[in-house]
Amino acid sequence: MADVKQARPEPRSPQMDVEAFWAATEREELLIKECRDCGEPHFYPRMVCPHCLSDRVEWKAVSGRGEVYSYSTLMRKGEPGHTIAFVRLEEGVTLMSNIVDADPQRLSIGQPVRAVFRRLKEDGPTLPLFIPA
Ligand SMILES: [Zn+2]
Repeated sequence: MADVKQARPEPRSPQMDVEAFWAATEREELLIKECRDCGEPHFYPRMVCPHCLSDRVEWKAVSGRGEVYSYSTLMRKGEPGHTIAFVRLEEGVTLMSNIVDADPQRLSIGQPVRAVFRRLKEDGPTLPLFIPA
């Protein structure tokens, strides 16, 4: 049987300009893409604006503040819950991440959250995660 941990893909792609994103998370900074033609932000990062198809998209640092759009918690007996969430940033884009350092029973839709940056395995990337704000 395949080892699930080995099967997990690294968050890098040779087709995408994502090195800047991961370099920023190492500095505890969150980047999204913004279009220089229509001004709209987007996430996940793309080479072409999903709103107007312009290729003049560039990285922009954002606050990391947002609110819970939706979430789901996996509970296992004897362990803290593992919460996956869609977070709507105050800049208007939504990203999928985890809510950490929070009691899953006290989470709610619309709850304010902010980004924190954690390396979940020693040789892995620093990930943007969220905690209650
Ligand atoms: Zn655009």
